[in-house]
Amino acid sequence: MAGGQGAGRFAGKCAVVTGGARGIGRGIADRLAAEGAEVHVFDREAAPPGGGVTFHAVDVTRAASVQEAVARLPRPPALLVNNAGITRDKSLVKMSDEDWDAVLAVNLKGAFLVLRALAPGMTAAGYGRVVNITSINGQRGKFGQANYAASKAGLIGLTKTAARELGPKGVTVNAVAPGMVLTEMAMQLAPEFRQKALDESQLKRLPEVEDIAAAVLFLLSDGARMITGQVLRVDAGQYL
Ligand code: NDP
Repeated sequence: MAGGQGAGRFAGKCAVVTGGARGIGRGIADRLAAEGAEVHVFDREAAPPGGGVTFHAVDVTRAASVQEAVARLPRPPALLVNNAGITRDKSLVKMSDEDWDAVLAVNLKGAFLVLRALAPGMTAAGYGRVVNITSINGQRGKFGQANYAASKAGLIGLTKTAARELGPKGVTVNAVAPGMVLTEMAMQLAPEFRQKALDESQLKRLPEVEDIAAAVLFLLSDGARMITGQVLRVDAGQYL
């Protein structure tokens, strides 16, 4: 069913998903469209359209790029998923300024810029749902990920602050913290890292894109209307 045209939990709702051209973001965008939302993906390169999802070429690290895309939207979105993210792994002492800045720019500043651009429309409507995709490594730290873990921990601080500021105006803001999911991002890791994640997992398997999407859609749904400022781990018990 094409997005925004039929019945479903999100029928009549307009959504923005960042980094939705592939991986977890694509899974979330497709699921939202399948459940009736009109979905707009902000990603660096506009991917081929499909399944009720509209792509916009946006660099979330650039305020002007975000503003231009928001101005082109047909109506103010009620739903936002800040999912765009990158890694540039190096041990702390080998990490360059560029490695640090690039990861903080996409993972943390990008989420701030998109949230800042969309929050006024949500508060004006008295309704909004925001989910930020953090990581268990933002909660526990990770060897080789000083930049990534700091950005994802920062995203939790952003989530809680936004929940406080926007809650009185009808907007919930939560975070989902995935464990390892075998997307292109995770496939860049050495096989021993993937095996370690499997060994850490209590369920002895790793979550899939659909598992992350299911949790995100719950937090976007009216079933979660009394939940805000929370971090929901979807990690098969990897960080227990
Ligand atoms: P992918 O690398 O598969 O997808 C990330 C998407 O974000 C890509 O389409 C990428 O575009 C886009 N993106 C990157 N930079 C920008 C930018 N500046 N502006 C707009 N879009 C951008 O990642 P995953 O699907 O694996 O990860 C999605 C989210 O989940 C990330 O925030 C990640 O940190 C988080 N996460 C992932 C885990 C995993 O194991 N996979 C575990 C925990 C959290 P392009 O193709 O141009 O690079």
